[in-house]
Amino acid sequence: MEFAERVRRPHGQKALGRPMATIYIETFGCQMNEADSQYIADRAASAGYELAQSPHDANVVVLNTCTVRDNAERRAYGRMAHLKALKTADPALKLVVMGCLAEQDRDRMQTIVPHVDAVFGTSELVQLGDALATWREGFEGTELSEERALLLPMGGTADGIADEFSHLRGFVTVQRGCSYYCTFCIVPHVRGRFDHRPMGDILREAGALVERGAREVMLVGQTVNAYRDPATGSDFGALCRAAAALPGLERLTFISPHPKDFTENIVRELAGIPQMNSRVHLPLQSASDPVLRRMNRKYTIAQYEEKRELFARYAPHWAVTTDIIVGFPGETDADFEATLEYCKRQVFAQAFMFVYSVRRGTPAAQWEQVPHNVASARFERLMGVQNKATRAYHERKAGSTVRALICGPSKKDRTKLAAKTPDNVTVIAPMPPDYDATYAQTPWLDVRVDSGFVWGCTGSIVGRAERYDAPRKAVEAPVLDLIAAR
Ligand code: SF4
Repeated sequence: MEFAERVRRPHGQKALGRPMATIYIETFGCQMNEADSQYIADRAASAGYELAQSPHDANVVVLNTCTVRDNAERRAYGRMAHLKALKTADPALKLVVMGCLAEQDRDRMQTIVPHVDAVFGTSELVQLGDALATWREGFEGTELSEERALLLPMGGTADGIADEFSHLRGFVTVQRGCSYYCTFCIVPHVRGRFDHRPMGDILREAGALVERGAREVMLVGQTVNAYRDPATGSDFGALCRAAAALPGLERLTFISPHPKDFTENIVRELAGIPQMNSRVHLPLQSASDPVLRRMNRKYTIAQYEEKRELFARYAPHWAVTTDIIVGFPGETDADFEATLEYCKRQVFAQAFMFVYSVRRGTPAAQWEQVPHNVASARFERLMGVQNKATRAYHERKAGSTVRALICGPSKKDRTKLAAKTPDNVTVIAPMPPDYDATYAQTPWLDVRVDSGFVWGCTGSIVGRAERYDAPRKAVEAPVLDLIAAR
C-alpha cells in the first residue's frame, strides 16, 4: 500500500474502536529531526502502524525534541506535561521522547516527566524502530480508551506533524554529528562528531522515497556540504549530481551548509543541476570578525563575502537566506552595528534571527553575557531592517505566477491552502472548490501572486500540475460568497 493511502484520514476522525495500531509523531527543531521522524514513520509503517493526525487517535505518541535553544526545550517539556492527561486517561498509550533533548536530559527526564514511557537518544533510532515493532503486537485488536475522547482537543506546538502531505517531501540524512564546535552550539555535544554515510546508501534511500511519492528530496546534515563519501572521498557536489540523476526526482534541496565548505567547484556543480531548488542557506551568525572568532565560526566576514559572491556569479537568481545570533557574549555596539549594516544591504531574502540563548555544556555559556535588555533592543532593530528586506523580496513576486509544492490547509486559516516555492517562500491562496485528497497526487500549485508580506505571499491558484516540469491544468475559480461580500 502507498504511504499516502495509509495516512489519509481526515483530521479529528476518531480511531476509537479501530483494531489498527496508530502512531502520532510531533517534530520540534531542525530538518535533521524531520529526517529522523521520517525514518521512524517509515519503520512504524513497515511494522503495520497507521499515522494518526492527533494524539487522541494514537496508541503511540512520539515527541522528537530539540535543544538548540532554551525556548525549544521549554516547548518540548510543556508538550510532555500537556500529554500527561492523555496518558492518565489511557495508561495503555505509549508516550515516547526522542531527539536531542532526550540525549541531553535522559536521566533528568525520568524525574521531571515520569509519565513518559521511553526515551531514545539521537543514536538510538534503530532501537526505537525495533521497539515499535515489538509493541505493535500488543495493540492488535485493542480499542483506544473512550475516556480519551472526553479530553479537550490538544493543540500541538510542534514545528511539524506528520500528515497526508508529509510524504511529498523526503528527507535523507547524509551525515550525522558535527566536528566544528561553534562555541554556542550543543549539536557536537549531543550528536557527536562527523559521521558521513556511504553515498550508495544515501542514493538508495532517496530513490526509495521518490518511488513512494516524494516530489522534493532534501539532503540533510548539520554541515551538509562538508560531506565526504567514506569510501571514495567524493564531495557534496558529486553527491548532489548523483542524487539528481535518480529516475523521477523532481526537486532537490539541502540543509544546513556551512559557508566555509562551499568551494568554487561545488557551487558551480550545484548551480548546474536543473532540479536544484533556487535557494542557498548561508548562515552568517554575525558580520563582526571578533564575534565570528569567539563563535569559532572558521571564517571572517571577507571570506563569507567570497562565498556569497560565488553564488552571485554561478546562481544569480538563487535566494540567499541566513541565520543571525544577536547578543552573543562579548558583542559590543560596534559588533552589532556591523551586522546591522550588512543586513541593510538587503542581501538576504530571509533571515532566522535569534537572541543568543545559553546552552548548558557549551563554552559560551561560561562567558559574561550581554544584558537581556541590550540584546532585545538590538534584536528589535535588526528585525526591523531584515523584515524590510524580506518583505521587499516577497513583494517583487507580485504579478508573477509561481509553481509551489502543496503543504496542505494553512495552519492559521483552514479556508486557505499553503504551499512552498523552490526558493522556500510560503504562498497562501483561497481553498479551491475542487480541493480534495487528489491534491496529494497533483501537488504542484501554480499561484498568481497578488501581494508580498514579511511571512510570504498571497495569491490565487490558477492551475495544478502532476510534475514540477509538466504543463498546468486549470483550476476552478473559488465561488464568491456574494452575500458575505455585501
Ligand atoms: S557548524 Fe557550528 S552551529 Fe553548525 S552544527 Fe556544527 S557546531 Fe553547531
